[in-house]
Amino acid sequence: QVAVLFIDLDRFKLINDTLGHHIGDGLLRSVARRLSQTVRTDDTVCRLGGDEFVVIMRHVAGREELDITINQRLIPALRQTTVVEGNSLNVSCSVGVALFPMDATEQSELMRLADAAMYEAKSAGRDTSRFFSLETNNRVMARQLMETQLRQALENQEFSLHYQPRIHAKTRQMQGAEALLRWHNPVLGQVPPGQFIQLAEETGLIKGIGLWVLREACRQWMAFQQQGLFQGLELSVNLSGAQLADVDLLDQIRQVLIETQMPAKHLELELTESHLMDNPTAAQEKLSALKRLGVNIAIDDFGTGYSSLAYLKRFEIDKLKVDQSFVLGMLEDSADAAIVHAVIALGHTLGLSVVAEGVESWPMAQALIALGVDELQGYWFSRPLAVPDFVQWVKGQPEGTERRRAR
Ligand code: C2E
Ligand code: CA
Ligand code: CA
Repeated sequence: QVAVLFIDLDRFKLINDTLGHHIGDGLLRSVARRLSQTVRTDDTVCRLGGDEFVVIMRHVAGREELDITINQRLIPALRQTTVVEGNSLNVSCSVGVALFPMDATEQSELMRLADAAMYEAKSAGRDTSRFFSLETNNRVMARQLMETQLRQALENQEFSLHYQPRIHAKTRQMQGAEALLRWHNPVLGQVPPGQFIQLAEETGLIKGIGLWVLREACRQWMAFQQQGLFQGLELSVNLSGAQLADVDLLDQIRQVLIETQMPAKHLELELTESHLMDNPTAAQEKLSALKRLGVNIAIDDFGTGYSSLAYLKRFEIDKLKVDQSFVLGMLEDSADAAIVHAVIALGHTLGLSVVAEGVESWPMAQALIALGVDELQGYWFSRPLAVPDFVQWVKGQPEGTERRRAR
């Protein structure tokens, strides 16, 4: 049997970006040396490009032996600290394995399967290996099918937006609503955003989709206003990391605001903490430019992405949204409750307002109100609703919201 190992370094880009390419090059040389040392002399080690390496092992006795070689020798060898020009570097790698002739007999097919298995190793948390399996294949096929469908989804008008109200904690009135994307595909049925947003990011399709969301949400919001509904209420739209990195973003937002006549001060853009921390210096500049357009900025899923507090102070933001995992757990888990408490205090100290999402019960809402949260969002108040249901929901609210409507 012959084994094809697809090896990809974990977070190599970070080293290149922070320490420079010459340090990255030094690291790649050291990885190449270590790989050569861990395999036998008649095996082949090559670099495909970037931080991707391929190892071809001949005369493989079986999976067990191979598993030991990879997990007890190869992966640990790459994990060792490397010193490049005085910098101590630590990397790990993710390895995907395909076997000849069991998995495939064609060279290109073996590479494709090993690559797919590597992708699974990455998804499993990196610094590990995966053998190609039938499940891997099924997942790859499912992903390909979804990608094909996603490429046509905009054109075929398969997207729609649902709206979920955000409630002011003191007045209990609707303060605004978040637009959430829904995809109905004739082949795949209803696909939740948790399943396709990441794929849209990886394929770059999110730029087109994200622009559609922004335009459609602003257009709809203005249509509500023209019907005398929700005067002065805020609209929240999610932005993905790829959108934030896109050089066209500012122009696109400016254009949409002009086109739809949406007042910038009523638009709030939600960015996740991890997207901002991917490249905090660039994010800081982008956020300032967005603020100059007059829109508001919220950090979404706060508490999950290891924000540097120094950046939090420098970022021009208006709001923190406590990640729903902490909110959902706060009544049972004292650690979650402590985190929610700390985020609210931190936000207020920095002059930011704090929203809790994932509020599923009245006791939860009460606990959050007691902690001084500014806004509440969650199933207890309303699920995200399609436009007609959302309008119905707003009309059914007690007179506070009605008053707002009439104004
Ligand atoms: P998110 O921005 O954190 O949105 C909140 C999610 O929590 C929504 O899931 C919402 O339906 C759900 N949710 C709201 N209240 C509750 C509750 O009380 N309990 C529980 N368990 N869940 C609640 P949804 O709509 O499935 O969206 C998932 C994620 O997909 C969003 O998380 C957001 O990251 C992403 N997403 C959705 N629409 C867009 C979009 O237009 N653009 C981008 N870039 N991402 C989007
Ligand atoms: Ca959000
Ligand atoms: Ca969130």
